[in-house]
Amino acid sequence: MRCCQADMCMADLSDAKPYHRRHKVCENHAKAQIVLVAGIRQRFCQQCSRFHELSEFDETKKSCCRRLAGHNERRRKNAAESHSEWMVTKGIVLLLLLEG
Ligand SMILES: [Zn+2]
Ligand SMILES: [Zn+2]
Repeated sequence: MRCCQADMCMADLSDAKPYHRRHKVCENHAKAQIVLVAGIRQRFCQQCSRFHELSEFDETKKSCCRRLAGHNERRRKNAAESHSEWMVTKGIVLLLLLEG
């Protein structure tokens, strides 16, 4: 049976887009801010193509913040690494200057 995961949703997915059919969500519920799934308020994540609890999302965003947070963390880490590399280079330059 291919129907929408949302509680009480009677949408017929036989005419829906393949994307919505594959993820068992009707177009309305894929776009909705709040969808009741298994009695829990959830939202369809465009990134994971599945429902998450509202707490996973950043306000009205359409994709969960878990991946976004991971992405930001990685970027911060890289920035920190390149910064420390620069400090090391600067330290070596200073050392050379002192020795010279
Ligand atoms: Zn639905
Ligand atoms: Zn997600």
